[in-house]
Amino acid sequence: MANSFIKLLEQNDLKKTQPRLSVLKVLTSREMATSQPDLEAILGKEIDRVTLYRTLKTFEDKGIIHKVIDNKGTANYAMCSHQCNAKEHHHDHLHFNCTQCNNLYCLDECILPHFKVPSGYQVENVQLIATGICAKCKQA
Ligand SMILES: [Zn+2]
Ligand SMILES: [Zn+2]
Ligand SMILES: [Zn+2]
Repeated sequence: MANSFIKLLEQNDLKKTQPRLSVLKVLTSREMATSQPDLEAILGKEIDRVTLYRTLKTFEDKGIIHKVIDNKGTANYAMCSHQCNAKEHHHDHLHFNCTQCNNLYCLDECILPHFKVPSGYQVENVQLIATGICAKCKQA
């Protein structure tokens, strides 16, 4: 597992630092997107806030992770698929924000429609968030 993180950093010309490896480990281990406050809580004293902020920014710029703003306006981060790179992110999946547990999920199997926009406009990013009750909360 750790080897694949090191490879990912190498592919993106990033130095293998402990904070970077730790952030990757947390983000890949969770089935939902992780908010910055949650990341701070999970990583604890291991990474200071500025380093965490910079790490997330770097990963976002490199197309390793993507940011999703939840219903409360908090930034959440999730791993990108292989289609993303430093030049651009390719995301066409729906995000789902549970109103009970507030977890934010990437629903990769739900593909967003392609919007036909008036001429002169160029779509670069579509942010769509579905709200409701997630599978876990529904079972409980
Ligand atoms: Zn991406
Ligand atoms: Zn839920
Ligand atoms: Zn996502």
